[in-house]
Amino acid sequence: MHVETWEKCLLFIRERIPAQSFSTWFEPIQPIKLHNEVLTIQVPSQFFYEWLEENYVHLLKQAIKSQIGENGRLEYSVVVDRGDETVKPTTVNVSGGSNSHNKNRVNGYDAYKNPDFYQELKNNSNLNASYRFENFIEGDCNRLARSAGFAVAQKPGITSFNPLMFYGGVGLGKTHLVQAIGNEIISSNNNKKIIYVASEKFTNQFIEALRNNNLQDFINYYKEVDVLILDDVQFLKEKEKTQEIFFHIFNHLHQGGKQIIMTSDCAPKDLKGLQERLVSRFKWGLTADLQAPDFETRMAIIQTKMQADGISIPDEVIEYIAYTVDTNIRELEGVVISLIAHASLAKSQIDLELAKQILKNIVTDIDSEVGIDYIQKTVSDYFKVSLEDLKAKTRKKEIVIARQVAMYFSKDYTNHSLKSIGYHFGGRDHSTVIHAVQSVNDMIDTNAKFRFAIDELKKKLKIRTAVA
Ligand code: ADP
Ligand code: MG
Repeated sequence: MHVETWEKCLLFIRERIPAQSFSTWFEPIQPIKLHNEVLTIQVPSQFFYEWLEENYVHLLKQAIKSQIGENGRLEYSVVVDRGDETVKPTTVNVSGGSNSHNKNRVNGYDAYKNPDFYQELKNNSNLNASYRFENFIEGDCNRLARSAGFAVAQKPGITSFNPLMFYGGVGLGKTHLVQAIGNEIISSNNNKKIIYVASEKFTNQFIEALRNNNLQDFINYYKEVDVLILDDVQFLKEKEKTQEIFFHIFNHLHQGGKQIIMTSDCAPKDLKGLQERLVSRFKWGLTADLQAPDFETRMAIIQTKMQADGISIPDEVIEYIAYTVDTNIRELEGVVISLIAHASLAKSQIDLELAKQILKNIVTDIDSEVGIDYIQKTVSDYFKVSLEDLKAKTRKKEIVIARQVAMYFSKDYTNHSLKSIGYHFGGRDHSTVIHAVQSVNDMIDTNAKFRFAIDELKKKLKIRTAVA
């Protein structure tokens, strides 16, 4: 009975709205029951329900009345998650006359289409061809993310890394990496439809589609892609409607074996303001973090960028930059570009002095302190012991002294806690650091040669501090 009634309602509705709208919003609906002149229909999501309420409530009422009579009512059952999870949290009475403010829009759904907007969606994968795997330097900081990305690029939608989610702070290579995946898929020429979109843009497109009554186009477009890359999903925080529509698209793509790739500035569990069911889906596939680049990776990145520009600079300059700019890769690039620009304008070689001068002028937010790794390197060079030994458990006298000196400077020149300093020296505890500082102070008081060494080291470290 309820099936027949609903089918007749559908006939009524079908005649009154565009075919596209009908298939988007009415075909997915399931009739559940008809009881006491109340027809219950099941809709796929809360968003779907709200959408019907906002846009089709009047039409639905007319349909119900035409089939059940004046007292006919409609109730919704909203599927909360997938079919195997809870059903039916919300039932809503439509005939009570709620939301009737949209009445007069019934005939106007399809009135306005913005061709530019739709064209833009159609033609553009939005990938920047210069972000590639070939120029994405691999290091400990990004190895897992990179190789997962590469695997996905070979077999989009087929690996268990679906969705694939990268997270990490700004400038650590998230966008580069996801775009590299897109470009790699394109270059393998398999006619996959790929779209890269920043979450902010996705949100704006969605809003625009709502405004222009183009939502079907918007949804259908995203439902057609083989690979969807959504950058910076943290931007969807608190944007309930956009999350809802993304959830809908996500489910459709995922069920169809399409690849979804996302980035975020924090781990999924810290994505506050995103619906839990969305976040739980993010964890279905693989989540990999990108960390701040270690010293070796920073060196490699600078070298590669310089080489790409056909510029060669002395190793000590590269080292200096790698030590100084240890926040993120974007900043590192900025410094390298300025350096190249200065050098070509001044037609001079980039030497250490020039580099220091330039960094002083262009980098305003370098850590105002020397880093522990810079202290360790300077001290180990000075005492001619290896960095590994400095951090190892070795109790050889020369090494112990060098280690204590490095700890002493770390305490004096950085804001690290004793605990953190201990951690940077092979996981020692804070009492070892206190002891080191005391021993160095004692030796400064009693040993002139040692005092001289400390002064020399201070000068070396000061050059660096002056720059910052
Ligand atoms: P995010 O999206 O995490 O903020 P981006 O991907 O925009 O960071 O990276 C910032 C800049 O650093 C880009 O120009 C990018 O090409 C570069 N970059 C990031 N990681 C690497 C890397 N591993 N190798 C080479 N360049 C990188
Ligand atoms: Mg980015």
